[in-house]
Amino acid sequence: MNDPNPHLVERMQGHRLSIFAEMSMLALETGAINLGQGFPDTDGPSEVLDAAVAAIRAGHNQYPPDRGIPELRQAVADHQRRFYGLDVDPADVMVSTGASEALGASILALVEPGQEVVVFEPYFDLYAAIIELAGGVRRSVTLRAPDYSFDEADLEAAIGPDTRLILLNTPHNPTGKVFSSDELAAIARVALQHDLLVVTDEVYEHMTYDGIRHVPLATLPGMADRTVTISSGGKSFGTTGWKVGWAHAKSDLIQAVHTIKQHLTFTSGAPFQRAMVTALNLGDDYFTGLAADLWAKRDRVSAGLAAAGLDVYPAPGTYYLTADVRPLGYDDGMDFCRDLPGRCGVVAIPNRVFYDDQQAGRSIVRFAYCKRIEVLDEAMDRLSGLAA
Ligand SMILES: *Cc1c(COP(=O)(O)O)cnc(C)c1O
Repeated sequence: MNDPNPHLVERMQGHRLSIFAEMSMLALETGAINLGQGFPDTDGPSEVLDAAVAAIRAGHNQYPPDRGIPELRQAVADHQRRFYGLDVDPADVMVSTGASEALGASILALVEPGQEVVVFEPYFDLYAAIIELAGGVRRSVTLRAPDYSFDEADLEAAIGPDTRLILLNTPHNPTGKVFSSDELAAIARVALQHDLLVVTDEVYEHMTYDGIRHVPLATLPGMADRTVTISSGGKSFGTTGWKVGWAHAKSDLIQAVHTIKQHLTFTSGAPFQRAMVTALNLGDDYFTGLAADLWAKRDRVSAGLAAAGLDVYPAPGTYYLTADVRPLGYDDGMDFCRDLPGRCGVVAIPNRVFYDDQQAGRSIVRFAYCKRIEVLDEAMDRLSGLAA
């Protein structure tokens, strides 16, 4: 399974196996509860689903404009003002095929071969692959448990003459961390001092708990001019299969990203773009309800994992929890995750695959809790056997 594929370009050989595919396969084979991959097991709000059906029936089935339908670009700008006070011109919004395409197009557009991209590890696996595809070089700054903070000196040390940009994900997958205002200020300071661009991945923007709020980096002084802000509707509206995302940045920066985007997909998802207008304009009660529901689930699963004997780390955002498996006698999360379906019928993800520093994440695993409460309770019940 680890033999190189003779057809694949060399720089991508190391990116063939997705841990999500491996663990989801294991879940299917064993009938285990899949707390590995992060997709919800319920549908999003019915008015959003109805809007998609209505859009198909109303004939919105041909190529939408390459930058996205004007109504959605306006809705993104309105959303940024409503939640963050950000002043975004709809002309500077680009609709994409999920946040994934906006991330890919940004890196391909902005990074020359040999230039360096600073990421915080553990990182979302797409980042490593897309940086490689662009011919860029990844430089990692390690987030350290239990709170996954980073050392500002590590960030400074990761910057060199070839650094082009910082890629920031907050709220953060896979740790559930939300970058603090001090940390955001440090990132902004470094970006300004070294004249770097920043690409932000904010797909979990509406999932923060414990009274913590998400702050887009673009709201910090001087940062709107050098930040590409990216998000999507998949996580916020329970529609991960629709793949409607967006990015905004100052005019010439988003134009650069769009130059690549138009040659990747050109455009996609006409009826889903319509429905996303309805979604972004939902009332505040939808967004507070979403966070309240997940907050309660986080607490439930956090308690369940602790009762099962794991060392659970704080996770004020996203719908993931991480935990250390050493109290259960494992020192490698990969071994734990391969054993877990057989031992108690649950699937989790080993975080070490998201690190360059293999030691830093070796014994940490991730559980996704974006599932129905009865599914989570059943999973916690099964896990409770581990403590015995
Ligand atoms: C899910 C996810 C994405 C992908 O978003 P899409 O809109 O489905 O493309 C990007 N970044 C992070 C951190 C994610 O968890």
